[in-house]
Amino acid sequence: MPDEALTQEKIINDYPRLGLDDKFTFRCGKDLDCFTRCCQDVSIVLTPYDVLRLKKSLGITSTEFLRKYTISPFTKDQRIPVVLLKMDPETKKCLFVGEEGCTAYTYRPWACRMYPLGFADPKNPNPEDHKFHFLLKEEICHGHGQGEEMRVRDWIEDQGIEQYDMMGQPFKELMLHDFWDRDEELTPQQMEMYFMACYDLDRFRRFVFETKFLEMFDVNEDRLEAMRVDEVELLDFALQWLRFALFKEKTLKIKRTVVEAWERKADAEGQAPGAATMRERTANSNG
Ligand code: SF4
Ligand code: SF4
Repeated sequence: MPDEALTQEKIINDYPRLGLDDKFTFRCGKDLDCFTRCCQDVSIVLTPYDVLRLKKSLGITSTEFLRKYTISPFTKDQRIPVVLLKMDPETKKCLFVGEEGCTAYTYRPWACRMYPLGFADPKNPNPEDHKFHFLLKEEICHGHGQGEEMRVRDWIEDQGIEQYDMMGQPFKELMLHDFWDRDEELTPQQMEMYFMACYDLDRFRRFVFETKFLEMFDVNEDRLEAMRVDEVELLDFALQWLRFALFKEKTLKIKRTVVEAWERKADAEGQAPGAATMRERTANSNG
């Protein structure tokens, strides 16, 4: 859980890089005087999969979870919504920390699992600068130099990070999309779409199943059934929809009947400006 002054630039330029077989010595435990100190006054960014797991473990909806347990600060330079774990306004402690440690331990977020390791995957044409781990040594944490020496890959395995990495891959690809390098800003409506699809999955489910969404998009029955029973499938679909809606990628298929209706309307309107673009896009969407 790095402090806020730790910029990506600093990590890339100054931090010693660790490969999977590099070793470090660290131990965390209740007997240490720093126990749970890392769970207060800290910025923990949640991934969509973190939100999904945590809200499911609490048996509440994503909307409720986001309202009770997270904050989404917004600065003027920010291009997309970010969701952080909320800290208690008085004690500054994470709402999940208790006397015995993390009360959400089994479902704790990716960032909490990784700590004190960090991971960088800079978007850089230089292959030397791709993907590396690094060790965060903060004053508050007294676990460094304690316990057994271990390899980075052993820590990753022990903390169950592989599953989080695997489930987080579609989101990571979304975040690394070339779109973000362009000088384009999301409209407030697109921001809202992004927030709903990535984090508020119960609302996204209603958007798919309780609006005219399925009258427009051609989604096969097997996939729909999977999305009904498996939230990971639903999240995967949500991110594909975002790529369609934001990046204009052909990740979803618009129904032929809808395309034809649009074409008829465009013809009737004498191919008003914009109609050709819409037709081009929908035709592409249908392959
Ligand atoms: S989720 Fe658990 S591990 Fe993470 S900061 Fe909160 S209490 Fe600590
Ligand atoms: S050793 Fe580090 S990670 Fe473990 S409780 Fe102390 S501050 Fe937190």
